[in-house]
Amino acid sequence: MSNKRVYTFGNGQAEGKADMKNLLGGKGANLAEMNLIGVPVPAGFTITTEVCTEYNLKGKEAVVELMKAEVEAGVAATEKVMNAKFGSTGEAFPLLLSVRSGARASMPGMMNTVLNLGMNDDAVKIIAEKSGNEQFAYDSYRRFIHMYGDVVMGVEAEEGQHNPFEVVLDELKESKGYKLDTELTVEDLKVLVEGYKAVVREHAGVDFPTNPWDQLWGAVCAVFDSWNTERAILYRRMEQIPDEWGTAVNVQAMVYGNMGETSATGVCFSRDAATGEDQFNGEYLINAQGEDVVAGVRTPLEITTIGSKRWAERNGTSEEDRKANFLSMEEAMPELYAELNETQQKLEDHYSDMQDMEFTIQDGKLWMLQTRAGKRTGAAMVKMAIDMLAEGMIDEKTAVLRQEPNKLDELLHPVFDGAAIAAAKELSKGLPASPGAATGQVVFSAEAAEQWAADGKKVILVRRETSPEDLKGMYAAEGILTERGGMTSHAAVVARGMGKCCISSAAGLTVSGKSMSIDGVEYKEGDFISLNGTTGIVYEGKVATITPSLDGDFGKMMELAEKNTRMYVRTNADSPADAQTAREFGAKGIGLCRTEHMFFEGDRIWKMREMILAETVEGREEALAKLLPIQREDFYGILKAMDGFGVTIRLLDPPLHEFTPNDLESQKEMAEKLGVDVKVVTEKVEGLHEFNPMLGHRGCRLGNTYPEITVMQARAIIEAACDLKKEGFDPKPEIMVPLIGTVKELKMQEELIRSTAAKVFEEKGMKVDYMVGTMIEIPRAALTANEVAEVAEFFSFGTNDLTQMTFGYSRDDAGKFLPIYIEKGILKQDPFQALDQTGVGQLVEMGCEKGRSARPELKLGICGEHGGEPSSVEFCHRTGLDYVSCSPFRVPIARLAAAQANLR
Ligand code: ADP
Ligand code: MG
Ligand code: MG
Repeated sequence: MSNKRVYTFGNGQAEGKADMKNLLGGKGANLAEMNLIGVPVPAGFTITTEVCTEYNLKGKEAVVELMKAEVEAGVAATEKVMNAKFGSTGEAFPLLLSVRSGARASMPGMMNTVLNLGMNDDAVKIIAEKSGNEQFAYDSYRRFIHMYGDVVMGVEAEEGQHNPFEVVLDELKESKGYKLDTELTVEDLKVLVEGYKAVVREHAGVDFPTNPWDQLWGAVCAVFDSWNTERAILYRRMEQIPDEWGTAVNVQAMVYGNMGETSATGVCFSRDAATGEDQFNGEYLINAQGEDVVAGVRTPLEITTIGSKRWAERNGTSEEDRKANFLSMEEAMPELYAELNETQQKLEDHYSDMQDMEFTIQDGKLWMLQTRAGKRTGAAMVKMAIDMLAEGMIDEKTAVLRQEPNKLDELLHPVFDGAAIAAAKELSKGLPASPGAATGQVVFSAEAAEQWAADGKKVILVRRETSPEDLKGMYAAEGILTERGGMTSHAAVVARGMGKCCISSAAGLTVSGKSMSIDGVEYKEGDFISLNGTTGIVYEGKVATITPSLDGDFGKMMELAEKNTRMYVRTNADSPADAQTAREFGAKGIGLCRTEHMFFEGDRIWKMREMILAETVEGREEALAKLLPIQREDFYGILKAMDGFGVTIRLLDPPLHEFTPNDLESQKEMAEKLGVDVKVVTEKVEGLHEFNPMLGHRGCRLGNTYPEITVMQARAIIEAACDLKKEGFDPKPEIMVPLIGTVKELKMQEELIRSTAAKVFEEKGMKVDYMVGTMIEIPRAALTANEVAEVAEFFSFGTNDLTQMTFGYSRDDAGKFLPIYIEKGILKQDPFQALDQTGVGQLVEMGCEKGRSARPELKLGICGEHGGEPSSVEFCHRTGLDYVSCSPFRVPIARLAAAQANLR
């Protein structure tokens, strides 16, 4: 690390800049950059993320000592620019500071901010006198004690209790009959300050610190400590942010939005984060400070008039009422609005991306406090990139690279069916905080949401307002509904980031304990409701959904991906319907068609069971002959749906016991149906029992012990292909042998397949092209891939089994320990979700290299779950695979990830 620990900014100058996010955190880097491009930002300095790491290693005392001189110099520089003095007891105006965290990636609500630091009994008097505004001085003081007491001194609500500061505040307001904090008089605020000090004494066991420097060091260290709080760790896990990154600390001169009617604070976005529309928007509050806008204490107002009118319409507010009570900033403060509008445009142009900004107006002067690339929904992400490309703001490469592939998921999932929604009963209307459709059973706590979801239920999490503690529950829920909060509330911001449907501030909704009422009607835990996050409407019961259309901007984005990719994408599909869906999403072929599912449908299972019960080759052949036409029909359908593209069909893979019943009742039924004694069945089932079926009699081991199964399947495939070709189609079957570990296992199967095909061709007097290849899913197959490739025309890496066998984790049992391994940091990620590139990846690389050394034209693909996971797709691109294959709904995600890998 470098020796420089503190970077100052202010007055149009800065030691840092935008591309120093790793060192200064996102917030710090952008504060510096805004200074450099002439945007008004209060002076201050950033303590680097490296100091956080140092802090975690060396501890508090040592690190404070190491950075002391630089921090003091930073404060001095800030004093100079702001013409104020930190800890002033005399002539100079006291400098108050904001201390806030800022990691590389934005972590909303994770880290705590302290405002008005430096305040004490001396400072408040000088500030009151010099500003001529006692109200403002004491308002800032009580805010400071509350925030500092909470964040730094750990004065919090105890289990089941209300926050002790809020208790004092609420009691005071109640005794005076106030509704809003703004009604508090100077005398009230003075009482509050003393009351808050008493709260600190009682709960923390010490007096509130009066020395500004003690306050500052306390706050700085608290920011570093907050990196390791449970909720910060949880958020990092979910967003895959490494623990080593650390957070920076931003110390900055305060500017005051609470100085009266000419002051304000707000949050704004340069485009619509929900829809992507190029419309500046946001919320503000006059005479307020800091988090008031997002905290839901007062209902914030719209910044633009257009936004205000839209809000009024949704809310059923008349234009008259709006003009009297809910003026937009554009109307209430036209000049400042114009300046803000200009600034947001300047920032968007400068960063060439949608900006999420925070600002404060102090007595008629605008200050920017933060800017960052705004979180957005999947739909907005696509629309903005396509729009900005058309505007010439970004190029194609940027447009593609800026997409988060996983977010496309939101665009692929159902929306409400138009007819169903027209018939549905409206319960309430709230703010359309995050778009999408959700239907589920209501629950009222994050824990319940998690539990119910774990039981396979779809839930809607209903809360008064959400807090970071609700994150897990929000992830588990289909949608979120809140009683309070605006478009920039915690629930709204986090839901948009997650791509979850969310409605906030639902009219008439009251949440209490395990029930809610809407306009007086009670709803209990488990009742069904539906949310339309795009319109903000809450419906009664379940509402039917349909699949969205994928043209427009989405189509354009897919075209860009197509143009910029090397690898192509196939799908894993077992039915013509799935194949069709995937084709519409741009799949070019099937990478894995499992045949076992085909044996379960309808009464097919009985023919399969008949085959299993047969004791002789002839008996099995007889039963298989009945299955042949059914299989042929299946293959005909799927080859037809993927006409012109390769279809990899895997021969029977699972152990036979999966097709037989386990309980006696069903075994009796089976015996009756197949006309044998029940003993025959029970003995057969016992005979099929294996201690470790996943490593047992399955895959090609079946085909090599019962060759007649392979013969039947090969015949069905080739006959279907011949039939299609005769009809003018272009079938391209690729027959895949599963679970081989030695080339001999493959060779025997290949000979059976080829001789069967030759027979069919002779019978039909025609030929079709087909391939024979294998799945690489046993480590030994990868290790001997050069031998295997002498026989195989293609490899498909079956990374589910390959991961299972490389780690020695049974996929079906890993649930018992994998989550703990991840929690303890033994594993960074679930290797069944994201390909383990260092370990399993080596086998894939080796398989590719050795395979191609023996057969240069060897076709290579992957068909495990990993084929639709972006980091794994990138790995496949680097390793030189021809294609990845994934489930139909992940095809667009994989296509985008493949293009990104190619562009990086
Ligand atoms: P978060 O990361 O949760 O958004 P911030 O660090 O942005 O937290 O701080 C929260 C709020 O505190 C900001 O939105 C802003 O309103 C207020 N704030 C931060 N710094 C200052 C400052 N220097 N002057 C006035 N208000 C500030
Ligand atoms: Mg912020
Ligand atoms: Mg397998």
